[in-house]
Amino acid sequence: MTFASLGLSPALAHACAEAGFMAPSPIQVEAIPPLLRGQDLLGLAPTGSGKTAAFVLPLLQRLLASHPGGYRKVRVLVLVPTRELAAQVGDVFLRLAPASDRPLKVAVLHGGVSVNPQMLRLRSGADIVVATPGRLLDLLDRNAVRLDAVQVLVLDEADRLLDLGFAAERERVLGVLPGRRQNVLFSATFPPDVEDLAGALLHDAVRVEA
Ligand code: AMP
Repeated sequence: MTFASLGLSPALAHACAEAGFMAPSPIQVEAIPPLLRGQDLLGLAPTGSGKTAAFVLPLLQRLLASHPGGYRKVRVLVLVPTRELAAQVGDVFLRLAPASDRPLKVAVLHGGVSVNPQMLRLRSGADIVVATPGRLLDLLDRNAVRLDAVQVLVLDEADRLLDLGFAAERERVLGVLPGRRQNVLFSATFPPDVEDLAGALLHDAVRVEA
């Protein structure tokens, strides 16, 4: 199995080779084709399975296909539970974005640091936002970020998002997103509250498991 045989472009397959990925991991084999087709997806996968690249690669391809030079409106929103994970996921987007001219801009938004640089960063526009829910809501309240062009919502480590209080923030975040969008939910475990979230969010989702 190769990255190209999953439907990824030569540029993205090359980026995988550059990142030292010899072959797609099992979760990548299962998740990349449906995500390229635009389907909703429920992924049960722990850290270490390659789950981040499993959504980053197809979403990069879709972003580049519709606006090869970048668009500077937020089209992909990834919500994560912690500052550390926000930084990690942001890095994976940057590492796997084809090196040619790095047309896609990624904004990483999390608490624990001053909000001003993040506001400044958003002013020049972003194609991808990776955020923790609290800081995202703060920036929405300040009118520093617009999410009306979001095409794909990813909830990463959904079980930890819920442990950290995302249930209360969920309606506010979902309320500012366009109704028509692709939804992706990754979780290491699948307790009833994650099942409820998946039921509310996903439509005709493909279910994949690492
Ligand atoms: P994750 O499960 O997303 O936290 O990824 C765990 C680690 O696996 C990260 O260090 C990735 O860079 C690495 N990784 C992801 N996909 C592959 C792959 N196909 N081959 C080798 N390493 C990978």
